[in-house]
Amino acid sequence: MRLILLGPPGAGKGTQAKILMERHSIPQLSTGDMLRAAVKAETPVGLRAKDIMARGDLVSDDVVNEIVANRIVEDDCAKGFILDGFPRTVAQAEALTKIMADAGLSLDAALELQVDEDALAARVETRRAQSGDQVREDDTVEALRHRLAVYRAQTAPLIAFYKGVGKLVSVDGMKPIDEVTADIAAALKAAA
Ligand code: AMP
Repeated sequence: MRLILLGPPGAGKGTQAKILMERHSIPQLSTGDMLRAAVKAETPVGLRAKDIMARGDLVSDDVVNEIVANRIVEDDCAKGFILDGFPRTVAQAEALTKIMADAGLSLDAALELQVDEDALAARVETRRAQSGDQVREDDTVEALRHRLAVYRAQTAPLIAFYKGVGKLVSVDGMKPIDEVTADIAAALKAAA
């Protein structure tokens, strides 16, 4: 199964991606995690991405497209993968279509977690409180506001993009985690 997860920051994409990963034995590919690892390791990509990420802006399409193109052809992706946080722009979605077509792969669904944006700030506060020392530099209320603005301007258009190609599956992401998980399973089954 090859899936994309869509939704604003704090919508629960990472949580649901990890559950899907275990259920389907396929890896979760989070471009945010891969970029954070690059920042930590101070690779050339990481050094360029550090300040952009701390501000909550998007790293350039070319950089993330290349990371994803190289990652999805690795052995552990043979049975599928869950992309979390990619694509984030229409240009990335178009690049992904091409990357997958070139590899002879097709997308099963773009799964949208629909959330009430007013509730997201509270979720980020909870995530900060639970993360202890491992707090993310961009997990502040101001950075979240900026990330939400970036999401609305650059990423939300992907909902229409995937609807247009008949791949969009939407679920209510405001329910408790296990209900969202159950709704996702039912929606993916119905879409298959
Ligand atoms: P995330 O963990 O998905 O919230 O991503 C954290 C940060 O990494 C984002 O705010 C961006 O700065 C960067 N990032 C992650 N994925 C992408 C992407 N697909 N395109 C551009 N920047 C990204």
